[in-house]
Amino acid sequence: MNFNHQDIKKRHFASDNYAGICPEALEGIREANFGHESSYGNDRWTARASDMIREVFETNCEVFFVFNGTAANSLSLASCCHSYHSILCHEIAHIETDECGAPEFFSNGTKVLLISGENGKIDPAGIEKMVKKRTDIHYPKPRVVSVTEATEVGTVYTPDELKAIWSKTKSLDLRLQMDGTRLPNAIASLDITPKEITWQCGVDVLCLGGTKNGMAVGEAVVFFNTDLAYEFDYRCKQAGQLSSKMRFLAAQWVGMLKDGAWLKYARHSNKMAALLESRLRSIPGVKILFPRQANSVFVEVPQSVVDDLHSRGWLFYTFIGEGGCRFMCSWDITEQDVTDFANDIAELMGQTRREPSSATVSSK
Ligand SMILES: *Cc1c(COP(=O)(O)O)cnc(C)c1O
Repeated sequence: MNFNHQDIKKRHFASDNYAGICPEALEGIREANFGHESSYGNDRWTARASDMIREVFETNCEVFFVFNGTAANSLSLASCCHSYHSILCHEIAHIETDECGAPEFFSNGTKVLLISGENGKIDPAGIEKMVKKRTDIHYPKPRVVSVTEATEVGTVYTPDELKAIWSKTKSLDLRLQMDGTRLPNAIASLDITPKEITWQCGVDVLCLGGTKNGMAVGEAVVFFNTDLAYEFDYRCKQAGQLSSKMRFLAAQWVGMLKDGAWLKYARHSNKMAALLESRLRSIPGVKILFPRQANSVFVEVPQSVVDDLHSRGWLFYTFIGEGGCRFMCSWDITEQDVTDFANDIAELMGQTRREPSSATVSSK
């Protein structure tokens, strides 16, 4: 595998959507850019990509292509609910914290109710508690549970953990939606087949991430419970998510799935995160915040180190509180990138320890 792209100047650990388009997705677009094709999804690429997704998940499912993850989540959740229902999710779920109220907006007001749990994962007992808290007509009736796989803090639900959630959703008559923006990373991390972590764990509808996996744009909404897909095409159209040249969304999927590039990149970015984690563990004073199971490492370092890394030109997010950093590995991160980044952190941490009176102590 050749990751030496001389023309890409510097890579960062900010997000997997800082990265460019991987060669396979780009090749898909190039191949589809030939002559005329029917529009709005009535093209051969869309048909082929949908079939490939059915093959990958080894089941009959209904597939739709939308532009982004916010739309995929919001519209798939709306298809599970009426406006007077509620959506149950983890308190740090993307649908709660990073979608600007879109799940509520696209479902005409369906309320999002929050459940806690260790390491970004929903505690199944919390589902039952939230549902049984109130059963009267004044409470927004719980109708769907949303899980994120891999989670927002880079952990991964095992099939058994998802099955424990499924047993709650089954007994409480709830649907199960999966935000699978980083599902490829979860599949690679667990080293299992796609079906074992989705419909075989009771997932009714999956939002399968393409953009963060290496595509330019586009996510797939995959209905394993095909009844829920009823009139979903109208939902997409009304929401401005029906691509007229859909073949260019779909062709990227063909490129990604044809020879398994989606899992190749997921394995690679997981491996780079594992390497980064092991380098960081050897640096005194760096605290790893969550079990690293996918392509991100969350750490706590002194604020002065965060500032110095930023002034050295490294981009990454610190949205999880003072000194808390998320280092995300995209499909194109190299071992050299990891080494350079870890060396800078080691050097800055060393300086911090020699000057204990500086910003180190003042940050908390
Ligand atoms: C990035 C991301 C999404 C999708 O976000 P968009 O910017 O709308 O594409 C959804 N869920 C999670 C967990 C994400 O990280």
